[in-house]
Amino acid sequence: MSTVIGNIGMLVTHHPELGTISDAALVLENGVVAWAGPAAAAPAADTAVDAAGRAVVPGFVDSHNHLVFAGDRSAEFAARMAGTPYAAGGIRTTVAATRAATDDELRDRLATLVAQAHRQGSTTLEIKSGYGLSVRDEARSLRLAAEVTEETTYLGAHVVAPGADPTEYLALVCGEMLAECAPHARWIDVFCERGAFDGDAARAVLTAGAARGLIPRVHANQLGPGPGVQLAAEFGAASADHCTYLSDADVDALASSGTVATLLPGVEFSTRSPYPDARRLLAAGVTVAVATDCNPGSCFTSSIPFCLALAVREMRMTPDEALWAVTRGGAAALRRTDVGHLGVGARADVVLLDAPDPVYLAYRPGVPLIAAVWKNGHRIG
Ligand SMILES: [Zn+2]
Repeated sequence: MSTVIGNIGMLVTHHPELGTISDAALVLENGVVAWAGPAAAAPAADTAVDAAGRAVVPGFVDSHNHLVFAGDRSAEFAARMAGTPYAAGGIRTTVAATRAATDDELRDRLATLVAQAHRQGSTTLEIKSGYGLSVRDEARSLRLAAEVTEETTYLGAHVVAPGADPTEYLALVCGEMLAECAPHARWIDVFCERGAFDGDAARAVLTAGAARGLIPRVHANQLGPGPGVQLAAEFGAASADHCTYLSDADVDALASSGTVATLLPGVEFSTRSPYPDARRLLAAGVTVAVATDCNPGSCFTSSIPFCLALAVREMRMTPDEALWAVTRGGAAALRRTDVGHLGVGARADVVLLDAPDPVYLAYRPGVPLIAAVWKNGHRIG
C-alpha cells in the first residue's frame, strides 16, 4: 500500500537539517517515506492525495507529556489567573483522583488526550508516570502509557508521595517501585527542584534507573537555579527539560554534553511566569527542543502549534528554528533518528497544513491549520 501526496507547495523534510523542496511530492509506502522530490518526477502510487499547493511538514515529536491521570484542576487554574489564593492540593489532588480511578477510566482519558494531540499534528508522544506515587499506581500508569507509545518515562520522583517520609519514599522510588516500573519504561526522570528532589536525591534516582537500563532525562531549573541541568549533563541525559533559570555554567554544560534543552513555553504561559531564553541556548550551540508538557496542573495544552507560536513570539525563536525544535529537536530529545524528518526511510509521520508555508503556524496562532495527519503511513487526523 503506497500513497503519493502531490502538488505540495512547500515540503519541509528537515533532511538534511533544514531541507525544503518547492513544488514537491512525497511517497509513503509500508509505513515509511519511500521518496521525496520534485512533483514532476514523482513515481506512481496506489492512492494519490492532492495537497493543492499547501505545505507539508514532518509529524510533530512532543517529547514531554504527563497524560495518565484522573480528576480536574480547572478551578485551580481559574484561581491562579484571578490572582486569588487557592488552598486545594495541587498535584496531591491529581494523585488522589488517579489512585481512585479504574484502569478503564485512566485509559479512556488517555485515549482522548492522545487523539487530541494527533489532531494537532503530534505523531510521537513521550508520556510520563508521576501521578500514582505508589508501586501499584506508578506501574499501572506506565503499563497504560505503554499501550499508546513506546516513549514511556518512569517519574516516580515527581514529588514525595503525600504523607510519606522523604527518605523512605526515595528508597521506594529507587527500589521496589523502580523494579515494578522498569519493564514498562524506556526513560527515567526526576523533578529536581526545591520542594521536590534535591541534587543528592536526584542523583540517587538517576543512578538507580540507569542501573536498570533506563535512560535519564531531568525536570531541571524550572522554578529557580539548581543542580538539575548539571546533573543531566553529568549523567549524559537525553534531555534537560524546562531550563528556565540557567547559569553560564549550565549553558556550557548543555553545549558540551550534547544534552538537549527541552523548552516548555506552555508552562510559562499557563502560570504567568518568565520564559526561558532560547536565543542564549541557540547562540551557545545547544540543541533545543520545544514540547507541550501537557499536564493537568501547570499546563493543560497538548497543542504543539500553540507552543511553537509561543516559542516564536515569547522566546524569540525564528519560525524555522521553532519548527525544527518541535520535529527534529523533539526527536533528538528522545534519541530517535526515524522521526522528526521526512528523509527516505523515515517513519511516514506527516502533517499537511492548511497553509502555503509553515511560517503560518506562528503567523496565525490558534487557527486550526492541521489539514491531515499520517502516522506510520496511515491517516489518523
Ligand atoms: Zn513535566
